[in-house]
Formats: sequence, structure tokens, C-alpha cells
Amino acid sequence: TDIKELLLSRIRDVSDYPEPGVMFKDITPLLADPAAFTALTDALAEITGRTGATKIVGLEARGFILGAPVAVRAGVGFIPVRKAGKLPGATLRQAYDLEYGSAEIEVHAEDLTGGDRVLVVDDVLATGGTAEASLELIRRAGAQVAGVAVLMELAFLNGRARLEPALDGAPLEAL
Ligand code: IMP
Repeated sequence: TDIKELLLSRIRDVSDYPEPGVMFKDITPLLADPAAFTALTDALAEITGRTGATKIVGLEARGFILGAPVAVRAGVGFIPVRKAGKLPGATLRQAYDLEYGSAEIEVHAEDLTGGDRVLVVDDVLATGGTAEASLELIRRAGAQVAGVAVLMELAFLNGRARLEPALDGAPLEAL
């Protein structure tokens, strides 16, 4: 489709970043192009409405850049999920495995409540570990999962399969 072509044309492939053998998908050219950034925001806002989400969770850091304008456009709240140690208030914390080692993410506990339906927004779904941990945070807070929406899914890493149990029937939308 037209939007897919537009978005793809504004993503830069950077080889051997952040380490040898990795092809990094860089979205900064897309952010710098107002037509592309607006098209992306509109598409993610449409998903927000369609899934009945009442809150957007954005994953640090590019999920903040994409999720915040989507929340404003869709008329829902925005909640940052951050790497551990960055949020000042009382948090829920979730650990997850990386290729080498592990990581932890946090959310302010009081930002998510039982009545919320939450859409997770990020730029890239790779192994799915970060998104999976964020869904666990949402459920532990007592909120509902509306789905996960990303600009890009790196299908060869099988993140969709990893995420499936945590999605529990909610959609994973990759533009
Ligand atoms: P995962 O947990 O392996 O799915 O990795 C996803 C996280 O790493 C997301 O927060 C992405 O922003 C980031 N990430 C992984 N690969 C890329 C990439 O090629 N470009 C931009 N971000 C990436």
C-alpha cells in the first residue's frame, strides 16, 4: 500500500550497529519527514481506536517518540515504560531475558488501573522480549491488554511467536 511504501522509504538500514552483524533499522529519517511521521501517527491512532484502547504505553525510548503523539491524536492517556531506575515514584518492575544477560523495565504503579485497556507502542519488534515484559507489567497492574502496535516487525527473529501467549488473543499490529 501507499503508506507502507512511504514508511519503508523513510527507514534507514545501518549495518553493524550497535555491534558487528546487526542491521539496525533507524527511524530518524521518518521522524524528520512530517508527511511520513503524520501518516504513522494517524495509522497508530486508528489502531488505538479500533482496539478500544484507553491508554497508550510507550516503551523507552523510541516508543515515547511514537506513542505520545498517538495518544494526543487518539484522545487517550500516555504512560511511559522505562528502563529500571528512571521513574521517581512507586513502580512495578519486570525482568526479561536478552540474548546475553537480562534487563528490567518499570512503570509507575498508579498510572495503570483496573479499568484501563492498554495498547503498547514501539518502533521495532525484534525478539519480542521487551514487549512481552511490558504486557506482563500491564496485567500485573490489573489492566487489560488491548494489543501491541509497532512500526516494524523483524519477522526473522520470531517475536510474534514469543509474544503470542502474553497477547492472549489481543492483536499484534505491525505497519
Ligand atoms: P526486543 O525486545 O528484542 O523485541 O527488542 C525491541 C527493542 O529493541 C525495542 O524497544 C526497539 O526499539 C529496540 N530495537 C531492536 N532492534 C532495533 C532496530 O533495528 N532498530 C531500532 N530499535 C531496535
